Amino acid sequence: MPASPRWSGPQRRIGLTGGIASGKSTVARWLEQQGLPVLDADVYAREALAPGTAGAAAVLERYGEVVRGEGSAAAAGVINRAALGQIVFNAPQERSWLEQLVHPLVRARFEDELARLASAPAVVLVVPLLFEAGLEGLCSEVWLVDCEPEQQLERLMQRDGLSEAAAEARIQAQWPLERKRPLADQLIDNRTDPSQLPARLGHLLKASALDG
Ligand code: ADP
Repeated sequence: MPASPRWSGPQRRIGLTGGIASGKSTVARWLEQQGLPVLDADVYAREALAPGTAGAAAVLERYGEVVRGEGSAAAAGVINRAALGQIVFNAPQERSWLEQLVHPLVRARFEDELARLASAPAVVLVVPLLFEAGLEGLCSEVWLVDCEPEQQLERLMQRDGLSEAAAEARIQAQWPLERKRPLADQLIDNRTDPSQLPARLGHLLKASALDG
């Protein structure tokens, strides 16, 4: 039984986490097809740095022209996310600065959306850094999408067209799956073909929060 508390209100709030490229979006897509509202931390993290926001201004002030988009994007105040990634995935102190800027905004967006969806019987929160950011308390249960480290690396390189070194840097920026497994309420094995997922997910959806 994981030590950190879960949300214990009337709504089922499924926190979906895992490692980068372990298969969270693949699982979330299936849950969405079943009619569950899906809230995605990555969307809110991007919104936090959208043109004209305080987040974008802080990033531009800290890193200057290097992270400014080019051409019309620069004029519009767009952040070049690839350039920002280059900085933060190669310097832990910069990643930590960016996380301290973005995490509170992401949490606030979750709280707004959860209030808006208060009458839904169940919602899904996709949160890659759920444990790292201490967001377990937003969820009534946490599902971890699991695979082997070498599968994660391969899927990430292929999906995002990254070199092995760039993919490794992104994986190293998160806690390893090994550390996250004992903190989750449910493990979703995504080591085999994705066609295997619906059976497990269907079972977990039918089960009550902690007995699946
Ligand atoms: P995440 O949302 O955790 O970053 P994704 O769901 O985007 O991960 O999956 C990462 C990549 O791996 C995607 O290109 C996806 O299509 C692929 N993928 C997901 N599950 C599997 C699987 N079981 N076998 C092979 N490839 C998979």
